[in-house]
Amino acid sequence: MQLQLSTWPEVDVYLEHSKGIIIPIGSTEQHGPNGLIGTDAICPEVIAKGVAEKIEVLVAPTISVGMAQHHQGFAGSMTLRPSTLMAVITDLVESLARHGFERCYFLNGHGGNVATVTAAFSEIYANTSLYSPDEDTLLRCKLSNWYMAPGVQKLSRELFAGAEGSHATPSEVSLTYYAHPEAVKDVKMSPKRAPTGPITTALDYRNRFPDGRIGSEPALASIEAGEKLFHAAVKDITKDYQEFLNKT
Ligand SMILES: [Zn+2]
Repeated sequence: MQLQLSTWPEVDVYLEHSKGIIIPIGSTEQHGPNGLIGTDAICPEVIAKGVAEKIEVLVAPTISVGMAQHHQGFAGSMTLRPSTLMAVITDLVESLARHGFERCYFLNGHGGNVATVTAAFSEIYANTSLYSPDEDTLLRCKLSNWYMAPGVQKLSRELFAGAEGSHATPSEVSLTYYAHPEAVKDVKMSPKRAPTGPITTALDYRNRFPDGRIGSEPALASIEAGEKLFHAAVKDITKDYQEFLNKT
């Protein structure tokens, strides 16, 4: 069930039997020579839609722009600075909480969002602790990185082993190719495997990782691998979301 394709009376009815919502969050940033700029938003969005086909769950619109300051050396990359992204997340969660949502499950596709999203959760809890000292709101948030799901990690190791790397990975590129076969790119890359190193500023990133990849060989990406990763992710995330609803 997509929030954007629902009416407010339908959301009212949903809230009578579930207080949970999945909010895909990603980034709009370069993903090397053959990876789509929307990769980090496309992946969690397609997985969330897959989960919603298996169980009854509402999926919020994807937060498609994230904290990607280090990718600004490449055309097309967009960023929200950490303080802006924290404000966006806080406002969105508090909007949903106003209507009675109590479990906000952020399905994330971008490592660069993790620290900021986690800090935003602390900001939200601080609002409860400071301004509502005697009454808990029951509002709880969880961050789940699709690429860390156990079934996904196992499959990535089997499919790509040391070629996975850490940015513009063959796993995430495969998943986007499965979701958007019309956007598959055939690009030769040199060196085959990208260098590794730390991430700081955009200029430093561009100097260390000239084509945008980090440690990966995304030329190995395929629609077939993406289909396998999709099913593994949907299975794990469905279970994780249900545990979040029931145990928290
Ligand atoms: Zn990515």
